[in-house]
Amino acid sequence: MAYLHCHSCDWSQDEFWSKDYTPLKSSIVSWLGDLLLEDTVSTDEGPGKGVVEIESRMYVSRALVRIGMEIRNMKWKTEEDWLRERETAVCPNCGAQDFDID
Ligand SMILES: [Zn+2]
Repeated sequence: MAYLHCHSCDWSQDEFWSKDYTPLKSSIVSWLGDLLLEDTVSTDEGPGKGVVEIESRMYVSRALVRIGMEIRNMKWKTEEDWLRERETAVCPNCGAQDFDID
């Protein structure tokens, strides 16, 4: 797994997709589907709120929105796409050529 991001701004994209991973891999969809049968889910709501219980359907809905945004914002879907374009690639947010892969 490799996570591409820009050092000049906060742009990043999902980990490169492959046969082993996409945001809609069946294990992820199956996990979210199972959560719908729960009443609540514990989740970290961030600074000031901490870990709280929320309705599972709200949690799953948020996860699906986040996955949708990851799909929408994916610039280079596979590592091969990245390697083919990296010499001329510019950040879709700031235009810099200041990428890093973690
Ligand atoms: Zn940038």
